[in-house]
Amino acid sequence: MDFDAIFTSQIETLKAEGNYRYFADLERRRGKFPRAANRHEGATRDVTVWCSNDYLGMGQHPDVVAAMCEAVHRSGTGAGGTRNISGTTHDHLLLEREIADLHRKDAALLFTSGYVSNWAALSTLGSRLPGCVILSDAGNHASMIEGIRHSRAQKVIWRHNDVADLEAKLRALPADVPKIVAFESVYSMDGDISPMRQIVEVAEKYGAMTYLDEVHAVGLYGPRGGGISEREGLAHRITLIEGTLGKAFGVVGGYIAGSAPLCDFIRSFASGFIFTTALPPAVAAAARASIMHLKASGFERARQRRQVAQVRARLDAQGIPHMSNESHIIPVLIKDPVKCRMLSDYLMDEWGIYVQPINYPTVPKGTERLRLTPSPMHTDADVDHLIAALTALWSQCALARAVA
Ligand SMILES: *Cc1c(COP(=O)(O)O)cnc(C)c1O
Repeated sequence: MDFDAIFTSQIETLKAEGNYRYFADLERRRGKFPRAANRHEGATRDVTVWCSNDYLGMGQHPDVVAAMCEAVHRSGTGAGGTRNISGTTHDHLLLEREIADLHRKDAALLFTSGYVSNWAALSTLGSRLPGCVILSDAGNHASMIEGIRHSRAQKVIWRHNDVADLEAKLRALPADVPKIVAFESVYSMDGDISPMRQIVEVAEKYGAMTYLDEVHAVGLYGPRGGGISEREGLAHRITLIEGTLGKAFGVVGGYIAGSAPLCDFIRSFASGFIFTTALPPAVAAAARASIMHLKASGFERARQRRQVAQVRARLDAQGIPHMSNESHIIPVLIKDPVKCRMLSDYLMDEWGIYVQPINYPTVPKGTERLRLTPSPMHTDADVDHLIAALTALWSQCALARAVA
């Protein structure tokens, strides 16, 4: 059988639709964020990254880099085992304590990524709570969807951010079955924020557990970077908070935080926690340094907010349409995968601006977009340059402008 022919033909379909993915070859340069070197067709060029999820540049923060280097020199590279078999280092325990404190929960549990934490926690809860029903927001991330699917629990999808629909669906379920309401705080691609207080109130009314993905909010919102649940004073009413160490904290890894019995339960039964090598201790040390810094410092958050507001205002002034939301994510809708790719290539080639085109399946077909994430390290000159580039593009390509 010619397997490669099967692979190639499916890839050709993706290419024909404009949905084939080309990765930019980047080399990040410590201390130069958001600048990076991009190797392309045999040459190397300097680009400004406008689509990073290292939202605050913490991946290059001196304290975080120093913590990782110190731990490598102290402990070496890998953890040397699964958490159960020699892989629980003191750095892991300190980090779990730090995360529990960040969300003011009794306990926390580390995973190798945010994806794995969602997949493992939801599949374990859904399969081990007898008769469990998971009520999932229609906009939830792939990692939550896969975890729910793997649990084989009954799944009920409620309309995105629609509390009335959630309540109708909760009301229709028997009172005595365990229910989990799974949702996010900041949705990654539209940047909209869930009505958390109302969701929590409805969930409480029906005795449901709340499962909250704060991946795009931790480090960024709340006085200590505890996310939207901290900002809204709701963390203590959320059963489980899930987060990542790979986005605003600038390292890698995922976690859940909740009650001691909840974390012990996932620790004891989740295959995705048990059967994999623990994160390197140096990663844990760096993530802890990053969390500690952002707990104490509001400077990066304030400066990011300023640059986000600036980019929005400047886009508005040029009539360049972008989705409005309350977060740090600025989606500029292009609504066509081929055009989106072309614009992205043009920005890179002609302006040294890197914004990855976002296409299916990350977003629904017809909602392709450029997703801008201004950081505290983007200077006012960077903003000027971005706006000049987009303005030129909008004129040259006769793209639709927003009606003022
Ligand atoms: C990125 C993302 C994750 C996964 O986190 P990683 O640490 O990158 O694996 C989970 N949930 C949402 C909403 C995300 O955008």
